[in-house]
Amino acid sequence: MAKVIDWLRDNRKLMFSLEITPPDRGKSVDDILSVVENLMPYEPQFINVTYHQPHVVYEEKDGVISRRPRRKKPGTVGICSAIKNRFQVEPVPHLICGGFDRFETEDALIDLHFLGIENILALRGDPPPGQARFIPEKDGHQYACQLVEQIARLNRGHYLDELEDPFPTHFCIGVAAYPEKHFESPNLEKDLRYLKNKVDMGAEYIITQMFFEFGQFKEFVERARAIGIQVPIIPGLKPLVGKTQIQTIPSSFHVNIPSGLVAVIEEARTREQAFAGGVRFLANLVEQLLDYGVPGIHVFTMGQGRAARALLETVFASRR
Ligand code: FAD
Repeated sequence: MAKVIDWLRDNRKLMFSLEITPPDRGKSVDDILSVVENLMPYEPQFINVTYHQPHVVYEEKDGVISRRPRRKKPGTVGICSAIKNRFQVEPVPHLICGGFDRFETEDALIDLHFLGIENILALRGDPPPGQARFIPEKDGHQYACQLVEQIARLNRGHYLDELEDPFPTHFCIGVAAYPEKHFESPNLEKDLRYLKNKVDMGAEYIITQMFFEFGQFKEFVERARAIGIQVPIIPGLKPLVGKTQIQTIPSSFHVNIPSGLVAVIEEARTREQAFAGGVRFLANLVEQLLDYGVPGIHVFTMGQGRAARALLETVFASRR
């Protein structure tokens, strides 16, 4: 089944998706493909591949300063193709507003369509490193809802230029959401209104940012339903298994880490104890989510599969 929404609608089995990140420029693709290979026994139905906006570097040569966009992690589309060929799993490329004008977005969509890719997670994108706020390209999109609208229009055969007998694409569109609210949003209520906007524009399902408390997710889903967001909401999950992550995860992802989880990690006497404790904590969270009836789970690997594998092993073992 090629589209996320078809799986969610027609399949009674829990949907399980993974999210991977392309390697840094100059590194081999083998490491990330072996992360995927290691997780294949758990039969992911979809594998998301993140997209990274280039950042601008200024270079001086012979007294002339030139501006050069530089992407640290290229290769999203190539990895999607490798995943499809090697593992016969449907890839879900992330497509962002940042770094693209609308015409470049249309070209990227045509490429994905020609490659036989049927799913896209449509995002605004994070500001590139060293830039505090998101700045769209000239003629680019400011918000993810505009990107969703462009993809939905292409699905109806509306290209940016009037074309004779245009061929429609048929992408299934997912979007992101934040149970603790997006960090730029003044409050969750407003953030949810904008989330609804993305759904009204054509998003068919939602994947959330990571969170660590079941109550946060439940409240988020209830509030989303109360304002008329009816599409499936899939929790995004990341096992937190090491001391440094207690600092890096909140600052990078603007999420709260509950004191119970902080204690598990900080009070562990060895790295292995912290790892096992963090995995156990998240496995409990997954159990609560499954009992609540979530349609799927989405696991962020961030390029490293060990914690994801340990989580899945625990969850699958307890459900067998
Ligand atoms: P939007 O939905 O556009 O929202 C951004 C902000 O603008 C929010 O505060 C929202 O409330 C507000 N807003 C929305 N619409 C409007 C409007 N019409 N008027 C005024 N305000 C509005 N980033 C990457 O760079 N690459 C990735 O591959 C990537 N993958 C991700 C995967 C997941 C599952 C998640 C949860 C996030 C991912 N991100 C990724 C991070 C994401 O790009 C950032 O969080 C970004 O800051 C917001 O993206 P968005 O699509 O949620 O934006």
